[in-house]
Amino acid sequence: MTLIMTWLRKFSLSFSDYKNPRLSQQLQQDCSITEQKTLLSLPSFSFPFTNQSWPLILPHHHHLDLQLVRKMQRRYSSLEDMTRNLDSVQERVLAEILSRNAETEYLKRFHLDGATDRDSYKSRVPVVTYEDLQPEIQRIANGDRSPILSSSPISEFLTSSGTSAGERKLMPTIHEELDRRQLLYSLLMPVMNLYVPGLDKGKGLYFLFIKAETKTKGGLLARPVLTSYYKSEHFKTRPYDPYNVYTSPNEAILCPDSYQSMYTQMLCGLIMRREVLRVGAVFASGLLRAIRFLQLNWQQLAQDISTGTLNPRVTDSSILRCMSSILKPDPELADFITRECSGENWEGIITRIWPNTKYLDVIVTGAMAQYIPTLEYYSSGLPMPCTMYASSECYFGLNLKPMTKPSEVSYTIMPNMAYFEFIPHDDMSAPVLSRDSPPHLVDLADVEIGKYYELVITTYAGLCRYRVGDILQVTRFYNSAPQFRFVRRKNVLLSIDSDKTDEAELQNAIENASVLLKEFNTSVVEYTSFADTKSIPGHYVIYWELLVKDPTKSPSDDVLNKCCLAMEESLNSVYRQGRVSDNSIGPLEIRVVKNGTFEELMDYAISRGASINQYKVPRCVSFTPIMELLDSRVVSVHFSPAEPHWTPERRR
Ligand code: AMP
Repeated sequence: MTLIMTWLRKFSLSFSDYKNPRLSQQLQQDCSITEQKTLLSLPSFSFPFTNQSWPLILPHHHHLDLQLVRKMQRRYSSLEDMTRNLDSVQERVLAEILSRNAETEYLKRFHLDGATDRDSYKSRVPVVTYEDLQPEIQRIANGDRSPILSSSPISEFLTSSGTSAGERKLMPTIHEELDRRQLLYSLLMPVMNLYVPGLDKGKGLYFLFIKAETKTKGGLLARPVLTSYYKSEHFKTRPYDPYNVYTSPNEAILCPDSYQSMYTQMLCGLIMRREVLRVGAVFASGLLRAIRFLQLNWQQLAQDISTGTLNPRVTDSSILRCMSSILKPDPELADFITRECSGENWEGIITRIWPNTKYLDVIVTGAMAQYIPTLEYYSSGLPMPCTMYASSECYFGLNLKPMTKPSEVSYTIMPNMAYFEFIPHDDMSAPVLSRDSPPHLVDLADVEIGKYYELVITTYAGLCRYRVGDILQVTRFYNSAPQFRFVRRKNVLLSIDSDKTDEAELQNAIENASVLLKEFNTSVVEYTSFADTKSIPGHYVIYWELLVKDPTKSPSDDVLNKCCLAMEESLNSVYRQGRVSDNSIGPLEIRVVKNGTFEELMDYAISRGASINQYKVPRCVSFTPIMELLDSRVVSVHFSPAEPHWTPERRR
């Protein structure tokens, strides 16, 4: 069988060539009768996005697993169907959502009177933001079980990393959404398999974590979408799939203590290092956190491997049980780890420890792009396919060309996940002003290449014409499905991990911190900020220019350190959780700059063509010459002396 596959590959032949007499003779020699029959009954199937045809995706199979072939084929077919019949799928999805939810309080308010077509929907139902829906969401959270947004019972709330009034947004979800998410996950490996063969021959080292969950007043669980997924039966009792074998045991992923979870996942990754074919985390920041963890903990890890006994800090009973069969003394491996990790130079550490790694499975689009150079350094430039685009509100789609450069990644929105509309933006920043009220929203099938749009969704769980806040640009089409580059999330100024801090939050934090300066007759006259990701974890840097009215009584270092903490206390709960619970964000830093620095900044901007009348101080900077100017004027540096307050409970 391998021979045939190799021939086909070598000569770029397609599946139909199996029927050519020379090959068929070979086929008879290499395959059982059943295999021959099944192979010959498979239709020839080629993929325009790779120009490959069917059997080529399984070149390394000595024994063709026909069940697997059929499963893959079904998944490809559904992908093909959806992208070919995009508009009719969207029409059907909207009709399905509207007819199911026709009797909900929300939809009845807009007098659709049973209409399920796009025109009636668009003309009667408004486009909304989270804040518009907050009264309904609050009632559900408080325990009102009547059909407010969805006719199906709300099964739980998914807590998004986007915040409202400093707290995570609560996204209502229904049980069947898990199936929809699962469906999208099930398409990832068939697509990947087109580009990287042989992934069924090894394991994935993925650093996956659950986060704290709470209950709302009405008794519904509120937790992040991935926590919900990892804790679901869909994940815990997933059937064996050779393409999705992980080094991390479920027990480690599901351990709520982040140290024990990370420690065990790293330990298993090291023990199974030769089997690892891909290394990943959800976002780039998560993978870098794992590397940092290895830097800090390799000695203990090597000791455990050398002796076959587990670090006493790992006490979780299910982890202890499962590790007793995984951890065995292996002094040779321990020596190897010590050799690799004790050196100063960590360049290429991922490929040195996991030499069979073919790619890093992490998202590096959007805010995560800042981590690309560091990941390239640690992995000697391995590809970083960004496989999926998703949110708490809805999983949107996939990257059908996962091996492209991060800057060229485009996501294909799957039309069966929700009903999608798009608010045109005239450039990267502003929505197109229109006399229509509400503005005319474009359907998924009608977006145009090159244009920018803001994403609006209508979900089975009951969000209607909801603005997600993401700005996307259409890059091309696959069949009739548009593909989108993720441009940015609206209003995000600073982000290290999943935290998203906007300008108003930063301003508010600065105002709260400057209260501490009042008794020293000192005020903040100008400020700007920067997400410093050079060290892991990254941290916020705030540049302050101060006006000290009485230099004999200027604020001490201690006061300025406290200002850092006061700022952190004012930032939203996702930021504080990152600082306290996830350890994904380091202490906030204030750099006080010399008087006149911000005037120099303005002069610099004007020298580069900014208009003097319209000049505004940028509230976030990343351009190297500007950073250099600021850093050369720093007179003192201060860090937050403690962690801010955070608990899983929401502030009411
Ligand atoms: P959350 O609601 O916390 O799950 O965050 C969802 C948001 O994360 C999305 O609306 C995007 O802004 C961002 N996001 C998700 N997937 C990607 C991706 N592949 N590339 C860039 N940003 C993403």
